[in-house]
Amino acid sequence: MAFSSEQSGSTDIATITVDAVVVGAGFSGLYMTHRLKHHGLTVVGIDAGSDVGGTWHWNKYPGVRTDSEASFYAYTLNEEMSQHDWDYSEKFPPGHEVESYLKRVADRFDLRGNYRFSTTVVSADYSESDKRWMIRTDDGGRLEAKYFISAAGILSAPIDPGYPGIDSFRGTAIHASRWPEGGIECRGKRVAVVGTGSTGVQLVPALAESAESVVVFQRTPNYVLPSPNEALGGGAQTMRHDGLAGTRHGIRESSLGMPYTSSGRLAMDVSDEEREAVFEEGWANGGFRFLVETFDDLWVNPDANYAAAEFIRNKIRGIVKDPKTAELLCPDYPYGVKRPAQGIEFYEAFNRDNVHLVDIKSAPITDITPDGIRTTGGKYDVDVIIFAVGYDAAGGAVTRMNVTGRGGVRLDDKWAEGLRTYLGMTVSGFPNFFMILGPQAPTGNMPSVSEGQGDWIARIIAEAEANGANEIEALESAEDDWSQHVSEVANMTLVPQGSKVNSWFVGANVKGKAESIVIYLGGYKPFFDRSDQVADAGFEGLKIS
Ligand code: NAP
Repeated sequence: MAFSSEQSGSTDIATITVDAVVVGAGFSGLYMTHRLKHHGLTVVGIDAGSDVGGTWHWNKYPGVRTDSEASFYAYTLNEEMSQHDWDYSEKFPPGHEVESYLKRVADRFDLRGNYRFSTTVVSADYSESDKRWMIRTDDGGRLEAKYFISAAGILSAPIDPGYPGIDSFRGTAIHASRWPEGGIECRGKRVAVVGTGSTGVQLVPALAESAESVVVFQRTPNYVLPSPNEALGGGAQTMRHDGLAGTRHGIRESSLGMPYTSSGRLAMDVSDEEREAVFEEGWANGGFRFLVETFDDLWVNPDANYAAAEFIRNKIRGIVKDPKTAELLCPDYPYGVKRPAQGIEFYEAFNRDNVHLVDIKSAPITDITPDGIRTTGGKYDVDVIIFAVGYDAAGGAVTRMNVTGRGGVRLDDKWAEGLRTYLGMTVSGFPNFFMILGPQAPTGNMPSVSEGQGDWIARIIAEAEANGANEIEALESAEDDWSQHVSEVANMTLVPQGSKVNSWFVGANVKGKAESIVIYLGGYKPFFDRSDQVADAGFEGLKIS
């Protein structure tokens, strides 16, 4: 089954020495590479994909599109790089348009020439004597760099579901994120989708249009908010460009890097009728607007959360005609403790004759047979199996590079008891190593986080270079404080309850991984206020020597 990266054929690449190696050619890697070049550093980028695009290079499955709106799913904060001359055709742009956008950015800022594509980092070791990183790649390449920066993606390390018999399957079995460039023929085929996270939710209605049948294997139901997509005509494009200053301000002041304004209301302070009306409006606006714009306490107050959850469950019951299927699709845990999905006609798809739901919580999958999937409740013959089973979030893409810091300490050993960083961007014991979209970073609109973190990293590196510094390293005490703060904030919310339902927010979706909060829940504005303060105070909490 396809889980691996695209392979390079070359085997003979000499060691080269550069100022910085950046891993990843998605939003964060391209941004970082450009910013470092701007400061006069020599940069080599590495990406396992055959071209730029990151998430959007890999995820080409039917139905893939953003959950962020077009007006801010692009470089927006940085004046030079922002989206003046780019138009998406839909409010929630399809994946191929985002990929085209990133290709355009790479061309415009001449970034492709910096990259080695179809290349995977196999190890990165810090030499204390040379104060340099030695990075090795799967094609035999060796790079020596002062700075090593992971922009390898928050959700890019696919999980192997590990079912016995996968290799015996006679049809096509694939992780959704390894969808081949030329596609997989699903028209008229019997297709299985395993998993009902954001990926499965996008796949099901898109496949149902042309597949003979779509069998959806669901373990834990998800809360799926509507994605009110629409075509963006000329007027909308003009508004988008003219409104850039407001969008920028909105992002900077926001909780999720999306320019949405909190309501200032608490759910239980209003009458039942008002609450219902607010939820109705939130449902119509869809996606993350429901979480941010309805009430301010959905993530923290169990009663408020229950009211929202019950509202969504009633929507499901209202949409899905078969009551048994509707009940199976209703989540019974708090809303938002797993990342809520966003779908176009997801629940409606279950009213079609060719879409069937299989509950694998009560009757788990046992194995894959040559003809399909076997559960403890039955056997399902299919032609294609799509595993939409998710990722080892944030830390996974970093530790898979086998990163070793000071004293030969491996990063995965350091994180064996739980993730620890300073500001989500640096790690004590790993000098001159930085992460964008790594653990303990704010979440939401990833391009906005990429720009914010990329700017901070570029600033500290530029200052270190100007001062002739050799090493930048987080102090252990600063890392302790930040990690404690990240947990304290998480414990003020309901999100830790996600550990009972395999939420990637807390690392509970990866077997054997120590559970700890993966993301910073304090919000986009507090995060960047704090990181700016740290920078303004001469990079407090970091030793620059
Ligand atoms: P996910 O949210 O982690 O969902 C994985 C699904 O697969 C869950 O339903 C899970 O069930 C199931 N699963 C996992 N292992 C399984 C196994 N061994 N057997 C059967 N089922 C299994 O993964 P995802 O849908 O790929 O999404 C990951 C994240 O990527 C999202 O949360 C989102 O942040 C991002 N994403 C964003 C977009 C977008 O913005 N448009 C689209 C796709 C993905 P359990 O819940 O029971 O573990």
